[in-house]
Amino acid sequence: MNIRKGDTVEIVSGNDAGRRGEVLQLVPDRHGVVVEGANVRKKHQKQQETGGQRPLSAGMIEFEAPIHVSNVMLVCPKCDISVRTSIKRDKGQKTRVCKKCGASFE
Ligand SMILES: [Zn+2]
Repeated sequence: MNIRKGDTVEIVSGNDAGRRGEVLQLVPDRHGVVVEGANVRKKHQKQQETGGQRPLSAGMIEFEAPIHVSNVMLVCPKCDISVRTSIKRDKGQKTRVCKKCGASFE
């Protein structure tokens, strides 16, 4: 996984293709990422148990379901498009670099 929490990614397939959002959570076991505003599902939940999630109506909450990491791409802040990245190693530090413009993500 070359995606990290807090990254801005673009969804490249499925219903949310083209949508951008911040990575809220990683699910490494399932190669999944939770992206703000993408793959939103609704589920029933007892009231008073919304646990910080947005209450919709009585007993309904919205939440972002994980998306497989192969369906998202990092957005390069310089190119302003979704790009492939390569890993550059420098003094033991791994840095992700935009393949198009060479900008580093950290
Ligand atoms: Zn770039």
